[in-house]
Amino acid sequence: MSTTTASPHPTASKGFFDAVVVGAGFAGLYAVYRLRRMGFTVRVFEAGSGVGGTWFWNRYPGARCDVESYEYSYSFSKELEQEWVWTERYPAQPEILKYVNHVADRFDLRRDIQINTRVTSAHFDEAAERWTVRTAKGDTVTSQFVIMATGCLSAPRVPDFKGLKDFKGEWYHTGDWPHHEVDFRGKRVGVIGTGSTGIQAIPVIAAQAKHLTVFQRTPNFSLPARNGPQDPERARQMKARYPEVREKARWSGNGYALLSDIPAKGALEVSDEERRTAYERCWQLGGPLLPRVFNDLVFNKASNDTACEFVRNKIRQIVKDSKVAELLCPSGYAIGTKRLPMDTDYFETYNRTTVTLVDVRAAPIEEILPNGLRTTQATYQLDIVVFATGYDAMTGSLLAIDIRGSQGRTLREKWSAGPRTYLGLQTAGFPNLFMVTGPGSPSVLSNMVTSIEQHIEWISDCMDTLRKQGVARIEADLKAEDAWVEHVNEVGNKTLYPTANSWYMGANIPGKPRVFMPYIGGVGNYRTKCNEVVAKGYEGFILAAPAQGETQARRA
Ligand code: NAP
Repeated sequence: MSTTTASPHPTASKGFFDAVVVGAGFAGLYAVYRLRRMGFTVRVFEAGSGVGGTWFWNRYPGARCDVESYEYSYSFSKELEQEWVWTERYPAQPEILKYVNHVADRFDLRRDIQINTRVTSAHFDEAAERWTVRTAKGDTVTSQFVIMATGCLSAPRVPDFKGLKDFKGEWYHTGDWPHHEVDFRGKRVGVIGTGSTGIQAIPVIAAQAKHLTVFQRTPNFSLPARNGPQDPERARQMKARYPEVREKARWSGNGYALLSDIPAKGALEVSDEERRTAYERCWQLGGPLLPRVFNDLVFNKASNDTACEFVRNKIRQIVKDSKVAELLCPSGYAIGTKRLPMDTDYFETYNRTTVTLVDVRAAPIEEILPNGLRTTQATYQLDIVVFATGYDAMTGSLLAIDIRGSQGRTLREKWSAGPRTYLGLQTAGFPNLFMVTGPGSPSVLSNMVTSIEQHIEWISDCMDTLRKQGVARIEADLKAEDAWVEHVNEVGNKTLYPTANSWYMGANIPGKPRVFMPYIGGVGNYRTKCNEVVAKGYEGFILAAPAQGETQARRA
């Protein structure tokens, strides 16, 4: 291994590691911290030129987390918890990136992280019981374990529009935003997409651009974030109560302490007035409370309809042009079944005279022109196009790597009808390969940091146990995997989630199998299940000792 004097990061890798970790976001960093303390050798490969994962790439204007800062943070270090000061209720991307970099430095993690290095393949050698991992830079290393800390929303998707390569202006995908400042001043800007990302970026871009045209296919529900400076008293209280707050989050439904209380009543069990007052209180408080204020909003369509109508009426009140307001009003799916954005002045932005909303469901985009774009109805002159068009979520970043398990079987082939995992941690046929927040785990339905910590702790504890027991190989049992997939589907099908065309269902990617990918049984229940599996000697996993004398050879 060689290092430059300027960078604390290694620049090339070879040889054997106990674990190769792919990705240096929240998950990869914690993996290094924990595995190193347990005495394992570890090498992280990170495609970006710095650590941070999602928060490294998503530098688009307005990028912000929609989990409150004091909960969207690591819990593994009491000192870190106490010393870090968050400045806003919902942290903006630069502050999260600063935090992640602080963690990397504070715990001296960089020396195990090779940046600017994209992993291209991971192949399992059955006889040697080792993975061989290759990178685009030409590194080839072997390892006993591979941990895919590749993130759930890290394969950006630009729709295959005709003519994009001939566009003469600037264009960007929000998930691959440049490091230089994009100057929208005096420019005619088009934003395609009104998911969480578009909804955050649109008000900020509108404030700068000469003219902004928003190309909306599906109107989205959105709730006001009511972001603001962190209240010092609230911060003090949070720090004083951190152990209790974290514990509450770990056993909650969504991985947030703030949202851990389950309401006693359904939306139709109260009077119209009581229901309206409850929604109004949530709206005024800001944040993600509204779809959780009654206990049946994700199960009961009639109940959910009341929340939908409340938000639609808010849109009608905010947006002055009634035609534009109606275009912005979502219908045909239940609120919360697509990831619910939180905004700052999103709907208000359409009152600007410099903002135009275009319905591309009625008139789809036909092609990108050298100076703009054309829908089936009209042509728009644009200097900058921003694609807020989302990701090949949950599976995209895994399948982008040529992963081959036992007998050379590819992950792509195994998951051709949709992802199949045991606990979202492993998939049968791929020994010693772990996923962090993989499909079949609460992942994107939870506070990601809570779920990431749980997975990294489970995986590293597992590696430690195997080492102590002299076990070389762990692999999900196909029967346990089938039963888990069935359970994930069963729980998902009790909710309204599968009724929406969301990225949770793979519906945003043409040809992607329609499978409800995350586990909606709750973070706490899921943790109980994972703990029980361990207590029962890794129930549902096949454990195999190394062949005689192999351990020594492998480490040589
Ligand atoms: P997204 O939710 O998948 O939204 C993509 C948008 O692009 C949708 O409005 C989609 O329309 C539109 N679109 C895609 N292809 C199109 C086409 N060919 N023509 C016209 N419109 C097209 O992606 P995202 O907004 O980047 O968000 C992804 C996830 O990232 C979020 O759901 C959230 O989990 C996470 N995120 C979190 C935060 C936060 O913490 N605050 C912020 C941003 C993102 P359709 O709906 O019709 O497909």
